[in-house]
Amino acid sequence: MTSDAKAVFITGGANGIGWATAETFAARGWHVTIADVEIARARTRAEGFAGKMLALPLDVTDRVAVDQAFASATAHWGRLDALINNAGIQRHAPLESLTFENWNAVLDVNLHGALHCLQAAGRIMLAQGSGAIVNLASIAATRGAPGRAPYAVSKAAIASLTKTAAVEWTARGVRVNAVAPGYVETDLVTVAVAEGRLNTVPMIERTPARRLADPSEIARAIYFLCTEDASYVSGHVLHVDGGFEADYGVPFFPPKALP
Ligand code: NAD
Repeated sequence: MTSDAKAVFITGGANGIGWATAETFAARGWHVTIADVEIARARTRAEGFAGKMLALPLDVTDRVAVDQAFASATAHWGRLDALINNAGIQRHAPLESLTFENWNAVLDVNLHGALHCLQAAGRIMLAQGSGAIVNLASIAATRGAPGRAPYAVSKAAIASLTKTAAVEWTARGVRVNAVAPGYVETDLVTVAVAEGRLNTVPMIERTPARRLADPSEIARAIYFLCTEDASYVSGHVLHVDGGFEADYGVPFFPPKALP
């Protein structure tokens, strides 16, 4: 198929931020590929956007499968204009008892999976001389994150990879940026709360916006970075965090009376 409509490839597009991003791009006339290990859910959701959305089974840790998925999506839509490197997982454990298996599991998906997709998309985009890539970082990229060592490390590495890719590729037409969300109401958060591994109350108190983000608020920032409105934005990590990063976390207590 060849088309005037642009095409975006979203990893982990079946749920949460990925799905909100798929809806955002589709609503603005883009052709959307959602690639996810949860293929049944991805297919059901894509059915509601017949002819505009393609669901592909993909485990981003499988480098060969990643290359095949990009070839397949690009053949289907006739072009590739944007990649949203969104698939991500979390494993909670205190550092002293964190298993190497869990360390590897998180880095495999969040960092190595993102690298596989960045390279696969980058090769296509560099050959055509255009494209935009948005990687999902996190507020955990710049802070210590107790109980979440592999996650924080993976997101710090994503921020770093974003900058190097931008420096290498921007002159060749491919802009690379990252979005660093605060806490967002998705399964990643609600399941951890339900299982007693996360308490969002202090997080909300610590966030100037005093609430969690809706996935659509992250999706709109991602969309902006893929449009001509962001034509001079590359190598940037955009915090979409309700002011979290700006606040150093010590509340202001006004003095009772000035002398
Ligand atoms: P989510 O758990 O709701 O969705 C993640 C999606 O990724 C799921 O559809 C899942 O099936 C898919 N996935 C997991 N492993 C995969 C793999 N190996 N291959 C392909 N797909 C895979 O999570 P979310 O909250 O929407 O998070 C999306 C991204 O945003 C992640 O990178 C996450 O780290 C980041 N993020 C989330 C938050 C938050 O508060 N929710 C905050 C900061 C950053």
